Amino acid sequence: MKEANKDSTMNLQLQAIPSLQELLLQSIQQDSGIDNRYLKLILNRTIQKYRDLIQAGKYNREVSRESLTQSILNEVQAQIKQLQSFRLKRVINGSGIILHTNLGRAPLAEPARHHLQEVLENYCNLEIDLDSGKRGDRHQLVEEVICLITGAESALVVNNNAAAVLLVLNSLCRQKEVPVSRGELVEIGGSFRMPEVMKAGQVKMIEVGTTNKTHLQDYAEVLSAKTGGILKVHTSNYRVLGFTQSVSIEDLAGLSRQYQVPLIYDMGCGVLENLEQWGFAYEPVAREYLKAGVNVMTFSADKVLGGPQAGIIIGQEEYLRKIKKNHLLRALRCDKLTYAALEATLKIYLQPEELREKLPVAQMMTVSLVELRGWGAELMVALKELPLQMDLTETYSQMGSGALPLEKIPSLALRIVPSSLTVNRLAKNLRLSEPAVIGYIENERYYLNLRTIRKDEISLLVKVIRKIFSK
Ligand SMILES: *Cc1c(COP(=O)(O)O)cnc(C)c1O
Repeated sequence: MKEANKDSTMNLQLQAIPSLQELLLQSIQQDSGIDNRYLKLILNRTIQKYRDLIQAGKYNREVSRESLTQSILNEVQAQIKQLQSFRLKRVINGSGIILHTNLGRAPLAEPARHHLQEVLENYCNLEIDLDSGKRGDRHQLVEEVICLITGAESALVVNNNAAAVLLVLNSLCRQKEVPVSRGELVEIGGSFRMPEVMKAGQVKMIEVGTTNKTHLQDYAEVLSAKTGGILKVHTSNYRVLGFTQSVSIEDLAGLSRQYQVPLIYDMGCGVLENLEQWGFAYEPVAREYLKAGVNVMTFSADKVLGGPQAGIIIGQEEYLRKIKKNHLLRALRCDKLTYAALEATLKIYLQPEELREKLPVAQMMTVSLVELRGWGAELMVALKELPLQMDLTETYSQMGSGALPLEKIPSLALRIVPSSLTVNRLAKNLRLSEPAVIGYIENERYYLNLRTIRKDEISLLVKVIRKIFSK
């Protein structure tokens, strides 16, 4: 009896679902804002969803035709609204992590944004040599400036550093053995794992040494006529501390010369200027590695360098020539957007004293606590009418993206405890705001780390937070 009852309710519910035609007519009257072809598809999949819900016995609201019609139309409207808004959107970064891979790493400098717009709205000479009028080479667009800044003989840009490593290994060491220290078999961001990249590059990885100690002798023992190159990898996102030893670039360079194979270095984070001038620990710059004997080096353009996503390969002409001939390059090359943004970013490096003013990453690395305190005070004053407790607390920032992993940058956070909603709700409402705001929760308190928020974002942040409490 009970089962039969349930079945009949279900049938009634199913019969109450309006037809596609009915819904379509009503939607069109409401001016849905998208073409009928897509409207039909969305209506159909929503009708199907309700059918499934009912058949699974999970629809237990009132079952009138009107109520179902209204529910479906509301849901379709919500879907269309979502479709029309951008999925990729601006975020105010309150995480304190300067190069957050999930937040798009480096925000671009104003000259990069400006140059991007100029190049994108118009045609450009991506592959035309304006001097001769003949076919040009996109790879030459930034080569000279990179060589000047790094002291390299030759340079090449590809999609990202993972692509750069892949291309270098495949071009120079294909079907050959490549020794690499067990202490340097890094995984970065889950998808870049050195052993896998080496496999994809069709080289045979020869692990040498141990996790904490690798000696020159360990490399020397495996070198032979089958060796295609020696790989060294910057242990970007971790450090092996304590009883450790790794082999210096100079020593490895000696070995590589002896066996006439290239010493390849995956530098990772792309430091081009001495960071000590900004109060950071010493980190060798690209130029120094080349001087020490690295033949070919790769790094990301969107880490400490502060540019768009790209991978930069620098080194000696003879090796770069080989790399540029690899057919894989076609699949890994960058588009005009990347070149426009990268070229403008690199030009800032021609006058390094301007980096702190012009490069957002450099700004965030160097903004003083005094200044952050000023911004914090401004926020507290602007938000003081709202139902929340606030204070400013000293904390730390990180570079992120595996760059300078031991560097804890002193920072300041606005700490918020809302009294009219939960901390989780506040975090979610801020994530769903326009622009989205990303902070973090610790001990039931919401933190906005000010180092990664720009001065000109403070008033916007105030607006966003006020709006949440005005609902
Ligand atoms: C970040 C990093 C990579 C990956 O670079 P992407 O630009 O993200 O592809 C590879 N190697 C090292 C050492 C890195 O630090």
